[in-house]
Amino acid sequence: MTHSVEGRSVLVTGGSKGIGKGIARVFANAGARVVVVARHLDQAAAAAKEIGKGCHGVAADVTRLSDMEAAAKAAVDRNGGIDVVCANAGIFPQAKLEEMTGEQWDEVLNTNLKGCFHTVRACVPYLKTSDQGRVILTSSITGPVTGFPGWSHYGASKAGQLGFMRTACIELAKHGITINAVMPGNIITEGLAGLGEEYLKTMAASIPLKRLGTVEDIGYAALYFASREAGYVTGQTIIVDGGQILPESLEALAQA
Ligand code: NAP
Repeated sequence: MTHSVEGRSVLVTGGSKGIGKGIARVFANAGARVVVVARHLDQAAAAAKEIGKGCHGVAADVTRLSDMEAAAKAAVDRNGGIDVVCANAGIFPQAKLEEMTGEQWDEVLNTNLKGCFHTVRACVPYLKTSDQGRVILTSSITGPVTGFPGWSHYGASKAGQLGFMRTACIELAKHGITINAVMPGNIITEGLAGLGEEYLKTMAASIPLKRLGTVEDIGYAALYFASREAGYVTGQTIIVDGGQILPESLEALAQA
């Protein structure tokens, strides 16, 4: 399976750190030609250098369609086309509903949901010319399945991505393009580490596999959706969470 992305041109938004960097590394190690996109060019370039294998960093803000069109063009100029796009860039600032401002809501929705639309919109013309175009979204368990205080805007954006995917799936199918979503649980990243040691410990304890996920855990799920072997899978989701959503109570975990 991992061999079928060899030589394919892959664009990963939010590829300068965290899950996006993990996805980019997994694809690069599988022989794909990867462009990572983030707002900070220095960080995108540093991640690309660290990943190696011809990986290249490009600066773009997913909240601006024109930025994403330029990023897609840069990937095409470098790698001759785009076969796989991973719309992964996202933010997760916390704000409780009663204190949340309209600006905070807009920032999260503009980045996570509209940014996802911009990314796909900018890449579709190139994906159409690929023999097997692939779109992989990074959604979350938070929103589509679970909730967490302070993340009502985030949850809405992540559930919204799946609504977007289900109609995009039908529109893109006639071009042979598939679109699927990975739904991570709690994954160890620089971003998540910022939520504090106590948070990380409590989260690990609530997961049946007793550990947080790695960025590679998500990268391999994305790699499956990108593979030629997944050519008949579209409009689908895969939860990668160590079983986190399954215990119906703390007691269910305690008795295991
Ligand atoms: P992260 O470590 O904070 O990295 C976020 C990445 O997105 C960075 O490369 C960042 O680079 C980029 N980014 C942010 N805003 C952007 C914008 N407007 N335009 C372009 N790039 C932007 O985050 P992460 O934890 O890896 O999360 C990545 C994705 O996974 C998100 O969609 C998140 O919702 C999802 N997710 C994460 C977890 C988790 O446990 N970590 C769980 C479920 C889902 P710049 O700042 O330079 O732009």
